[in-house]
Amino acid sequence: EATESLNFIEQIIEEDLAAGFPQEKLRFRFPPEPNGYLHIGHAASICLNFGLGETYNAPVNLRFDDTNPSKEEQEYVDAIKRDVAWMGFQWANVCYASDYFQQLHDWAVTLIKAGKAYVDGQSSEQMAAQKGTPTSPGTDSPHRNQSVEENLDLFARMKAGEFAPGSYVLRAKIDMASTNMHMRDPILYRIIKKSHHRTGSDWCIYPMYDWAHGESDYIEQVSHSLCTLEFKAHRELYDWYLDQIHDPSRLRPKQREFARRNLSYTVMSKRKLLELVQNKYVSGWDDPRMPTISGLRRRGYTPESIRKFSELSGISKRDNVTDVSLLEFCIREDLNKTATRVMAVLDPVKLVLTNYPKAQVEMLDAENNPEDPNSGTHQVPFSRELYIEREDFLESAGKNFFRLTLGAEVRLKSAYIIKAESVVKDAEGNILEIHATCDMDSKSGSGTEASTRKVKGTLHWVSIAHAIKAEVREYDRLFSDEAPDAHEDKNFLEFLNPNSLKVNKEAYLEPFLAHATTADKYQFQRLGYFVLDSDATADRLIFNKTVGLKDSWAK
Ligand code: ATP
Ligand code: MG
Ligand code: MG
Repeated sequence: EATESLNFIEQIIEEDLAAGFPQEKLRFRFPPEPNGYLHIGHAASICLNFGLGETYNAPVNLRFDDTNPSKEEQEYVDAIKRDVAWMGFQWANVCYASDYFQQLHDWAVTLIKAGKAYVDGQSSEQMAAQKGTPTSPGTDSPHRNQSVEENLDLFARMKAGEFAPGSYVLRAKIDMASTNMHMRDPILYRIIKKSHHRTGSDWCIYPMYDWAHGESDYIEQVSHSLCTLEFKAHRELYDWYLDQIHDPSRLRPKQREFARRNLSYTVMSKRKLLELVQNKYVSGWDDPRMPTISGLRRRGYTPESIRKFSELSGISKRDNVTDVSLLEFCIREDLNKTATRVMAVLDPVKLVLTNYPKAQVEMLDAENNPEDPNSGTHQVPFSRELYIEREDFLESAGKNFFRLTLGAEVRLKSAYIIKAESVVKDAEGNILEIHATCDMDSKSGSGTEASTRKVKGTLHWVSIAHAIKAEVREYDRLFSDEAPDAHEDKNFLEFLNPNSLKVNKEAYLEPFLAHATTADKYQFQRLGYFVLDSDATADRLIFNKTVGLKDSWAK
């Protein structure tokens, strides 16, 4: 049946529609807190919410859940917008919970007047001690039955800045014996004396998540408020708060929960990612080793690959860990179809073609992408002195070595068949040059018999006189443990992989790469997929390795 391919959230929506909910009233939101950069876990929520918007032709708001000025910044707001847009999604409105501060405050006053909220002047320790346990009821606060007048007065003075942070909170008066701990008189407002990135010093009381979130959904008339599983127990409170303010003529949002996406070999909590940034374990939020969207972008990931990853990893009801190799599979598949094939030599050794004319330079045609017949060709200069990879030559080797050995032939990609004849070594025996002869009749694409002759292997190369010296950065997993933050006795930082970044300052690239931009995707033939790093300048090219050609992780 058709519903079998729907995820369980889509099934809920289909059921609502079948029960008469008007499709034109569907509305979603993606609600990040601007206290860090978005990561691949957020991408699951982005793809879910904006994907529903696309499926049902419904508006999706980008809502900043900016209710805690001590952790939030404009830099994060800007980064989040950039990342969502880059993923290829369009929001209907940019909204801010902070735009609703006055309304939220006024509703809180309504609650006080209705005898459903009170100001508590106890310490947080005292209140925690009165909370009770899930199996035993809590104890009422001595302030629980204060008069409405007193509560209104204290709340007004909280708002006016008369009190120190922590000295008073506003609490909802619900049920100190509820089996749901979130219902035991939860805090609605606390005092924070910090400047807010949007409202400055207008407020010194800030709403708690539960109070702000559901009411923001209501203000925006979000039909389905989708959040992660840890909020399941908050749903009763979400509904209780809506009960207090809901006008039956307006849409009443409903909260539903899905499982967080976790990824192997990394951490996903913004607090931990911030720790990596602040303590300089990485170069920034967009370090190519980070699981952030900006880090993946800088690493060379495409929006398509991240959306594909979201599709394949799916939306689940239960917590799970997705293997990072699935993410790598998605980018490899995408780049295989789209990346321009070029040649680069990362560990050079000099190859001299002794019979090739000294002053001659040929411009050879190189196919841009054999997977894409419309991708065309570009020109690569060829000359007598070339670099090849040091590991592509052995003086002598067994049958299974499909590269260059003395007396054997290989083809130089897009060029000629060559045969290694001798080597020049230094006093320690290191190879300085390989001397080879070139079959001048064997040029690729020339149509001669020799041009189609089969040889053992094909090597990539660059012409020394034309090559661009560049820096190449290769990455390994940032953590050496599959679940670095799942160890009770160890801090996740203990699992940082000390070899996660390998910098090579002496790579040689074919000159076609001189004009690369960070938007261009390349396959360095036989080596992997690479992208220009954002640190690069016109006279200092830097490339990041996105991913290898094959899954080398499993071996
Ligand atoms: P973190 O612990 O990383 O700070 P968060 O939930 O506090 O995560 P928010 O900025 O509040 O981060 O998240 C915005 C939206 O993205 C929320 O709806 C949240 O549920 C969702 N989200 C966050 N992390 C994940 C994840 N790992 N998988 C799926 N959805 C996520
Ligand atoms: Mg959150
Ligand atoms: Mg958080």
